Amino acid sequence: MRIAPLLAILGVLASSTALAATTAIKLGKLVDGQGKVISNAVVIVEDDRVARVATGNPPLPSGTEVIDLSRYTGIPGLIDAHTHITYFWDGVTTPRSEPPRHPAVVASFAQENARKALEAGVTTIRDLNAASGVDLAMRDLVNMGRIVGPRMFVSGTALRITRSTAPPAPIGLMVDGVDAVIRGVRQVIASGADWVKMHGSTGGFDDVTQFQTFTFEEMKAAVDATHALGRKIAVHSYGPAGARDGVRAGADSLEHGADIDDETLAQMARRRIYYIPTIDHNQYYIENADSVYHFPPGAKERLRDYIQRNVDTARKALRAGVRIVMGSDAVYNGWGLNARELEWFVKIGMTPEQALKAATTEAAALLGMEKNLGAVAPGFLADIVAVEGDPLADITAVSRPEHVRWVMKAGRVVVDKTTRTDGTN
Ligand SMILES: [Zn+2]
Repeated sequence: MRIAPLLAILGVLASSTALAATTAIKLGKLVDGQGKVISNAVVIVEDDRVARVATGNPPLPSGTEVIDLSRYTGIPGLIDAHTHITYFWDGVTTPRSEPPRHPAVVASFAQENARKALEAGVTTIRDLNAASGVDLAMRDLVNMGRIVGPRMFVSGTALRITRSTAPPAPIGLMVDGVDAVIRGVRQVIASGADWVKMHGSTGGFDDVTQFQTFTFEEMKAAVDATHALGRKIAVHSYGPAGARDGVRAGADSLEHGADIDDETLAQMARRRIYYIPTIDHNQYYIENADSVYHFPPGAKERLRDYIQRNVDTARKALRAGVRIVMGSDAVYNGWGLNARELEWFVKIGMTPEQALKAATTEAAALLGMEKNLGAVAPGFLADIVAVEGDPLADITAVSRPEHVRWVMKAGRVVVDKTTRTDGTN
């Protein structure tokens, strides 16, 4: 593909960039996501998929476009398994206190979040909770090539119970009782959602309370109704009670979670229920508590305490053999920092290689896309990220967006910062 210089300056390329039939990408090193590290790799991409991975100077069909990224390390495109792409901050108002916006305006603004995800090396997201079908619309527009963004798997509107909340009311479909839950699940899936998201406990933003919301019977009904229609369900729980019942009910993934008991962790490992701890999310809130969110006094201390318990739980989960996946819980100006979660994964005891897998192969398996995503190997979608440094020696080569220099999604170059040398961007 020919890169228009003007667009290259913008860092993100328009979706109309012409697609060459065959492209060869030279990488100093390739971490292929299947356990191999290949020096002087040449990835041959045909249309939107990887045709083969060679080394050195392989013979190439005439007309092949060669992209020389031999200064960089290639990794599979990252998957962020917990995001909120429609939560957009204009830099002026306080997030959550903005005046209501028309869904079309939200969709327009959210494209900036999409661009930041790509610049962080994230080529696929699972987006969990959005109002008015904006996530569904964005997923479809990305798939149609009308907007540039990561591939999206979306939940539509999350299921919540009725409870009094301080304004503004959270986004959610209020359902109480087994019948309403079943109807809610069917409604969400009928709207076109890939996943169902259920809020199994309180907690969110500066609120780190852990009260269970839906009962076990309601969770079980949601899980069964979701699975009956061939979809998967994610259960949000800040605390141990909601986590225990969500796992017992057979959820496919558990989001957030501190203080999860050993028996529940053992069951998660046994039943292959994925854990998305979203640790960095609360660190992000601490960093923006005063300047952006204007959280009340005491919020930062509560968040810090929650992080500690979240970290302890993730460490126990890792030891128990639970499959842990990267989810940033990105909101507002947290977009772009999506991969910072991987630094926490190294802190809890993962090797950098394991951490990378949590954002590639493991995440692809969570999505049921393990034959298409999460590896740079023949037959896989050509999602390739070129980073500065060696991510297997130091995870910050991936986790810090300034180290991400070039991104290809399904055979198209969507980020190119290879010409800049000052590292600012
Ligand atoms: Zn979330």
